[in-house]
Amino acid sequence: MNPHSLRIGIGHDTHRLQPGGPLRIGGVDIPFAYELVGHSDADVLLHAITDALLGASALGDIGELFPNTAAENHNRDSIEMLSLAAAEVSKAGFQLINIDCIIFAQKPKMLDHRAAITSTIAEALKLEKSRVSVKAKTGESVGPVGKGLSIEAQCIALLYQA
Ligand SMILES: [Zn+2]
Repeated sequence: MNPHSLRIGIGHDTHRLQPGGPLRIGGVDIPFAYELVGHSDADVLLHAITDALLGASALGDIGELFPNTAAENHNRDSIEMLSLAAAEVSKAGFQLINIDCIIFAQKPKMLDHRAAITSTIAEALKLEKSRVSVKAKTGESVGPVGKGLSIEAQCIALLYQA
């Protein structure tokens, strides 16, 4: 593999929590008393992944592809946005090698939902599950994450240009 054909990208996202639920993370509805707020379905993890893919391929960012001023993006399913972004990346000649993600949430415990989240993402990206890593951390009870005001996510993606 020619190392010059490798591209790396990073994505980060934050959404505010409000009373409600369920909590949609990584395309999975987790039973919880709070939900994330946003123009779309506010899936913080899928947004970070989408931006990592777009970043690695230098195709812009999620806000450019799916503006929050567009009515069609209101309450939009982020799995659909991720799939569309992945299709653009593939059209530009890139192949995804792997992604590694972190969810920052004080609650709920993400470990119980990790398998479902990993499968959902792998399916959306048409990627083997062994190439999708999802980790989680609390906010150690400090800052907006630790106080339960928001949830954040980060993702790094490696692409290969054939
Ligand atoms: Zn977002």
